[in-house]
Parts: sequence; C-alpha cells; structure tokens
Amino acid sequence: MHWFTAVFLAALGFTALLQLWLSQRHIRHVVANRNAVPAEFSASIPLAAHQKAADYTAARTRLGALETLAAAALLLGLTLGGVLQFLSDAWERIFEAGGYVHGIALIVSVALISSVIDLPFALYRTFVIEARFGFNRTSLALFFADLAKQAALGALLLVPLLFCFLWLMTRMGAMWWVYAWATWVAFSLVVQFLYPTVFVRWFNKFSPLEDASLRSRIEGLLTKCGFRSRGLFVMDGSKRSSHGNAYFTGFGVAKRIVLFDTLVSRLDPPEIEAVLAHELGHFSLRHVWKRMGLAFGASLAILWLLGWLIGREWFYTALGVHTQGTAMALVLFFMIAPVFTFPLHPLASLYSRRHEFEADAYAARQADARDLVRALVKLYEDNASTLTPDPLHSAFYDSHPPAASRIARLQMQQT
Ligand SMILES: [Zn+2]
Repeated sequence: MHWFTAVFLAALGFTALLQLWLSQRHIRHVVANRNAVPAEFSASIPLAAHQKAADYTAARTRLGALETLAAAALLLGLTLGGVLQFLSDAWERIFEAGGYVHGIALIVSVALISSVIDLPFALYRTFVIEARFGFNRTSLALFFADLAKQAALGALLLVPLLFCFLWLMTRMGAMWWVYAWATWVAFSLVVQFLYPTVFVRWFNKFSPLEDASLRSRIEGLLTKCGFRSRGLFVMDGSKRSSHGNAYFTGFGVAKRIVLFDTLVSRLDPPEIEAVLAHELGHFSLRHVWKRMGLAFGASLAILWLLGWLIGREWFYTALGVHTQGTAMALVLFFMIAPVFTFPLHPLASLYSRRHEFEADAYAARQADARDLVRALVKLYEDNASTLTPDPLHSAFYDSHPPAASRIARLQMQQT
C-alpha cells in the first residue's frame, strides 16, 4: 500500500470515529440530564420543554451519526472504490479527455451523486424529526422547489467559477494558485453582496416592519449604536419552520436588518431590541470582516497546497485514480480535505464563541442585559436547544456558547 493511501485511510478512520464518539457522548450526556432542569433555569423552563429538547437533540444527533457513516462510505467508494475513475472514463467517451467540458462534467457528476445520497437524510430530518417535534412547516412541494432553486443557483454561480479555475490552472503556469485565490476572493465578495440583496428573494418574502412602536424602538437603538440601515424587514421564515432568528445582511450601502416573523411574534419589543443589539454588536465589532479575512488567509494556504499536490503522481494513484489533471485534482482535494481539517474544528468554534460573548457584552451595554437573557431563554425553549450539551461535543461543534455560560456572563454585565 502507498504511504499516502495509509495516511488517508488513517485520517478518514480517525475523523469518522471521533465524530461518532462525540455523537455518542453528546446523546449520553443529554439523556443523563433529561429528568431535571438545570437549577439556573428551573424557574423559567418547564420540565416538559427540557425533556423535549433532550429528545430532539438525541434524534438529530443520531441522524448526524448515520450521515457521518454515509459520508465516509461515499468518500471511500469515490476514491479507492474506483467510482471517480469510472466517471472520468465514462465522460471521456463523450467529451475530449482533459478538456474543460470533461472536467466540469466530472465535478458536476460527483456533486450530483453526493446530493442524491444527502437527500434521504434531508427528507428524514425535515419530515420526520422536525415534524415530530412540531417545527416543520414546509411541504414536499416547497421542499423540492427549494431544492431545484438551490441547484439552479449553485449551477449559475459555481459552473462559471469552476470554468475560471480550470482555465487559470491550465494557462497560468506554476503560480496559478495565486490567480485562483484572487478570483475566489472577488467571487466571495460579489456573492456576499448579491446573496442578501438578490438571491435570498428567490426563497423568501420580505415586508417592511409594520409595527410602528417596535419600529421606533429599533430606530432609537440604531441611532444610539451609530448604525445606518437600508430598512427594517420581516421575513416569512414561518413558511418553512417555526425556528426563530434575527439577522443582518449585506455590507456597505446594502445593509438591511431582517427579523424572522417567528421572532417578532414570539418576543416582546424590549427582547427584540436586545437580540438586535447583539446582532449590531457583531457588525460594530467587525466580526464578519475578521472571519472573512481569516477565511481568505486559510484559502490562500489551501490553494498553495493544492498547487503543490497537483503535480505529484502519488496524490492520484494513492487515492485510487490514474487519470491526472486539473479537474481530477480539484475534486480529489476538496473531497478529502475535510477528513484532515476536522480535528481543527474546536479552534474555529472557539473563535466563533468568543465573538458571541463579545456581541452579548455589546448588547448589554446598548440595551438591557435582562431582556437579552429573557429572549435567550425563550429562544432556547422554543427551538428545543439543549441546556446540557456534552462539553467536548460543544467544544467541537458549537458556534454559540452553552446557554448557562452565556446567561451567567450577561447577569454579571447587568447594570
Ligand atoms: Zn451572535
């Protein structure tokens, strides 16, 4: 066996077992704490809601474990199982070997296969788990319409990008990865701008916030925070799910504040103000830009690595492929990369949780921390988010700090 085959198999096995172990720990921890609401929430969250959150978390985590197994099997099948080589050979009978169309056909067919494998999981999650816990509001027709729109949007954005990448890889010599990186940065910025202003309208409807008293309250907060927006909107999130959220979109002149209708109907105006102050905190502290800067730095390193691997014969043969080329290198690299980067997840999650604490502290300064605590408790209860995650699982996956530590900090920040 080639040494890189052994490294790949070891990394795949390690990551898959680590993910399964974390899932098991999480389920065990949540179930063990199922019969008692943590003391700090005993006055605000009923036992039945706490138990619902435990069952919901366990159901989702179990499905996630099955998805881990399916993804590992798919990756093995595509690489060492010979499916990638088979696809490449099949497309060669129709298109010029190694040409752009052949490359795009290869990558699109891999994307289609993995979407088909994801589909039963997505259906089960939405129509069985979400439905069982009373969150699902989407219909099969809407689900498939969304899927078709997502596929169209993906094709519209990614096929031209892919073509650009393959062209640069072919034409720009050894330093192609620098040009590819610049293209990627420009593409990400354009999508960041277009997504909230244009594409999101394909999926949801936005209406101006009607409630005059809530609007003037929010406008007061915006003035206080020195924030100028292009409008306050309510989005029909309830069309698909009863989970609630508030977000901001866009940057520069395109800034819009969007509240999910589910959030507006569930929270009181002071609580909405506090949640929005938290979101304004992310903006004011430049969290989006910091994250993007970090992602751009990481992508430069990643593309450099791909630039190095693309010329090594063993990179292909050790992964079960003998056709070498730009498209094959791209698809192999981006398929196997997550297997190697998963152990770095806790760092990314830690960074994100630090931003959440910072945004909470900002909200406590600009609004009332007690309102934010009340809003968080309602959102935890409504979304059936567990109050008792396994600490190690949380360290790997949670972009937001556990409820108890968030609320404890906010209570210290009350003035
Ligand atoms: Zn946040």
